Amino acid sequence: MDVVNELPRLTFYRGRVGLFAILKALGIGQGDRVATQAFTCLAVPEGIMATGATPLFVDTEKGGVNICPNDLAAKLDSSVKAVVVQHTFGIPAQLGPIRKLLEERGIPMIEDCCHTFASTYVNQLVGTFGVGAFYSFEWGKPIVAGIGGSAIVNDPELRKKVSDYYDTLDEPSWKRVLKVQLQYWAFEKLYRPETYWKVRSTFRKLSKAGAAEGNYNPTEGVAEDFHLKMAKPLHDRLVEKLNDAQAVVERANHLARQYAAGLPEGGFVRPLVPEGAVPVYARYPLFCLEKQRVLAKAEETGVEIADWYTTPVHPLGREEWHHVHLEPGSCPRAESLSDQIISLPINQKVKPADVEKTLRLMKEF
Ligand SMILES: *Cc1c(COP(=O)(O)O)cnc(C)c1O
Repeated sequence: MDVVNELPRLTFYRGRVGLFAILKALGIGQGDRVATQAFTCLAVPEGIMATGATPLFVDTEKGGVNICPNDLAAKLDSSVKAVVVQHTFGIPAQLGPIRKLLEERGIPMIEDCCHTFASTYVNQLVGTFGVGAFYSFEWGKPIVAGIGGSAIVNDPELRKKVSDYYDTLDEPSWKRVLKVQLQYWAFEKLYRPETYWKVRSTFRKLSKAGAAEGNYNPTEGVAEDFHLKMAKPLHDRLVEKLNDAQAVVERANHLARQYAAGLPEGGFVRPLVPEGAVPVYARYPLFCLEKQRVLAKAEETGVEIADWYTTPVHPLGREEWHHVHLEPGSCPRAESLSDQIISLPINQKVKPADVEKTLRLMKEF
């Protein structure tokens, strides 16, 4: 399947709505469980819970940022009706063992491709392994359309169901579209790696005040959002940006090579990349034992280093985990991962001087 050509077909208000649509088409709802990895963002459990189902969190793999096939095997039971497999930061999950396990149990796999449309596993594109996959096009993703998401469905029967459902969805109101468009133009104009920390703090203040469309609205408007398509002007922007998909991939690979070559020995450890996997990174992730010190220094010197995910279900603090049915201690590796991961920017605005400045900072640790 040509994923890039497929992406503009079933476009939703957000990526999580694409996940929701696939789960609904699979007949998943109340009383069912959907397994997904911890070390994810609230969008994923929101998409699951919007169907009435309950998320079941699986720990991350040893040394990596993706789902652990062994913990998945241990936690699966007859209540689990689907598994979401996320390719975190663009690193493909261990698709070989996972697919084998799920085929044996007859459980459908949905890939979370929000961080990559181009990574491969044994020469096959991620997104084409399971019954379907979903994508996101908001700020920070490889292709930015404003806000929005998409689903591809590999199983023909399921595709018919998803597209029938898709035809019942509404367009977002012009007010919401305007808000998202203003946000998009502001980001385009203001964001560069050296303005990252300022843009981020302004965006957080605005979304708290309701003046910007935040990424997580666990209490308001959720049900309504799950009945929306991607707005037409955003869809058109997506189509246009997909024309440059190849340039996005080349740029990502180039920056990843520069980071890899320039990082100091020791100090920062790269997450596991499974055998046969070729990542196209959304950001360049690193384990680091002094996360808070590195971030403080980065903010002080205006270097873009991101902190996510800061918790196993970003941005929920421990006292909020029960909202998404995450049991403290059930995913110990994901819990400690959140305290150790940082990531370097990969996008069209990262210039050679930014790479140099970032690497210089990293060498101080
Ligand atoms: C961004 C993202 C999503 C979905 O985001 P939406 O805001 O719903 O478009 C889902 N999973 C992961 C891992 C993401 O990074």
